[in-house]
Amino acid sequence: MTEEIKTSQTSEASRESVSRRTTVNTGGASVNGRPERKPLISWAALLDEAVKKPGFIHEAYSRFHNYSLGNQLLAMFQCLERGVQPGPLATWPKWKELGRYVKKGERALTLCMPVNCRRTRTVTKQNGSEQDEEFTYTHFTYKAHWFVLAQTEGAELKPATIPGWSEPKALETLKIERIEFTNLDGNAQGYARRGRKIAVSPIAALPHKTLFHELAHVVLGHCADEDLSDTENTPRELREVEAEAVALLCCESLGMPGSDFSRGYIQHWNQGRSINERSAQRIFRAADLILRAGHPTANSTDAP
Ligand SMILES: [Zn+2]
Repeated sequence: MTEEIKTSQTSEASRESVSRRTTVNTGGASVNGRPERKPLISWAALLDEAVKKPGFIHEAYSRFHNYSLGNQLLAMFQCLERGVQPGPLATWPKWKELGRYVKKGERALTLCMPVNCRRTRTVTKQNGSEQDEEFTYTHFTYKAHWFVLAQTEGAELKPATIPGWSEPKALETLKIERIEFTNLDGNAQGYARRGRKIAVSPIAALPHKTLFHELAHVVLGHCADEDLSDTENTPRELREVEAEAVALLCCESLGMPGSDFSRGYIQHWNQGRSINERSAQRIFRAADLILRAGHPTANSTDAP
């Protein structure tokens, strides 16, 4: 059997060759980037740092909202580490297009980006004949291709506007239905049901936070087999911390209240045990999906 592997990098930025030397060190968190080969970037550490620093997520979102949440935070930490003023982020050719040039000696920031790969495999069919079958998959790689405004000079840049977030738009894009809240339990804040349905109590303490939390349960596939109810005393299960972390990322990004509660919950969940890498990636992706669904026109350099 022969297997031919064709790899095509589809992202515009990955075709550019810029500085390859970048070290990402987030001062305590083990977020290290070596763009040459498989850098060690821990999304769990990134999430942990972001959760610990109130206002940080919102700052990153305001600066880098065109990028995925994970990349926003990666960019933010690198700016802080190097003492570079955070600001609009673009690749060298993009800056050139905008009439600006990267200053001499500036090192590019490293971001995570998807690479779409095509692969062909030979499969044996039931009748014994062999056939080539093509399949695609995405993997993530780290590239040092980006510079913030402060690393460039040239034509003046018009300030960009931060996109708003619309609940009806998000529900439509995510194919989630918001149903009437019929739970009589006074503590109930919201629930997510099979069939991509959610409800938020009209007297929920923090309706936006609960909305994001319930959306997260659906997006994360938590209620594919069962209905989930949330009270003020949320049980300390992994899926609850995942949904609550998504709610925190969404609330903070959009500057909505509610993140203090989530922050406390996440920091103390399960006696201080930290969120694992797989969950951290799921959390970033879900939050990104929910935020983007509310303003689907924005482009993104998607990453976990
Ligand atoms: Zn829940």
